[in-house]
Amino acid sequence: MLLDAHFTGRHFLQIPGPSPVPDRILRAISLPTIDHRGPEFGALGLTLIAGLKKVFQTQHPVVIYPASGTGAWEAALVNTLSPGDQVLMYETGHFASLWKKLAERLGLQPEFIGLPGAEGWRQGVDANHIETRLRADTNHAIKAVCVVHNETSTGVTSNIAAVRRAIDAAGHPALLLVDTISGLASADYRHDEWGVDVSISGSQKGLMLPPGLSFNALSPKALAANKTAKLPRSFWAWDEIVAMNATGYWPYTPSTNLLYGLAESLKMLEEEGLPNVFARHKRWSAGVRAAVTAWGLPIQCADASLYSPILTGVMTPEGVDADAVRALIHQRFDLSLGTGLGKVKGRMFRIGHLGDVNDLTLVATVAGCEMGLQLAGVKLAGSGVQAVMAYFAEHRGAGLRPLGGG
Ligand SMILES: *Cc1c(COP(=O)(O)O)cnc(C)c1O
Repeated sequence: MLLDAHFTGRHFLQIPGPSPVPDRILRAISLPTIDHRGPEFGALGLTLIAGLKKVFQTQHPVVIYPASGTGAWEAALVNTLSPGDQVLMYETGHFASLWKKLAERLGLQPEFIGLPGAEGWRQGVDANHIETRLRADTNHAIKAVCVVHNETSTGVTSNIAAVRRAIDAAGHPALLLVDTISGLASADYRHDEWGVDVSISGSQKGLMLPPGLSFNALSPKALAANKTAKLPRSFWAWDEIVAMNATGYWPYTPSTNLLYGLAESLKMLEEEGLPNVFARHKRWSAGVRAAVTAWGLPIQCADASLYSPILTGVMTPEGVDADAVRALIHQRFDLSLGTGLGKVKGRMFRIGHLGDVNDLTLVATVAGCEMGLQLAGVKLAGSGVQAVMAYFAEHRGAGLRPLGGG
């Protein structure tokens, strides 16, 4: 911690990104920086792009930016659209709202659909709503549909395949742009199979890296749109990057050391296997939800079919400031939880259960929350700690150590 106070043990970073960075990745990042035009670098670049394609489940180009996720949002829009273009965006929460604001600032005309008020922030994307809107757009003025896969402000994961089917059912040519900044490498995500044109992601969530890298996965249709798109772009322009990436290099200096970390992350995901990674997150999510249910507190996601494997939003009772509870938990127990953002500020907090954590990290996290809630005077219906312990004890995870020893 960059503080004067001394803390023992590891800080509990249970926010839904940045997620804890594994020691293996920290060690990889600490290796000496090499020449980004030198002979070794090209091999690294090619390995990274091939590995990322597996994680996005795509055969098509993936672009890596030395930027936070917000940069990759901007890149997706400026590479495919022209000034004044209409885009259909879906309000699932704070991150969808920030992306819309970004689109406005770029000179696009976003139309924001979704349920009005705070209720929409408890639901996922309604694909029927998108289909109806696209059917009404008979002259095809809408150039792109933009949705968030895992809405990190609420803990709701939307069905992207259903959005693709809605666009196709409407016979509409709009591009499909998807933010999976927090979904990738934690929840199942299939760029090619789901017919996504641009997938957007970042390093500091499921990939377990520090912040600072972000990604665009492309489709042939997105690459074709890139040729006629008129929004100004230079740093974000795909053409030069994709051309140089063919030999594993970049037009500018990439984040060499973060790329070492990415190589290690991809190796770890490959060793475990993506299906195991997804199952692990689902199981953790179910354990944490069992705790919240035992407390008798509502979960922010109101649709049980859309619970996020990455995080759980916990709504605090009327009159209890969720941020005051979070601050108390941080101060007393050295545990960081996610704040309520935008419309739900002070009304809920978020427990991250992604990346480099394990059953006991999450039992301890639930314990920290439970102590903090009780100290804040919240009447709990029962023990979340008992519930999460029971869940993990009764549901074995994959990838366990062999029994044995002396
Ligand atoms: C984290 C996140 C972002 C923002 O990414 P930055 O790296 O903070 O720019 C956008 N969308 C979603 C869904 C996120 O989880």
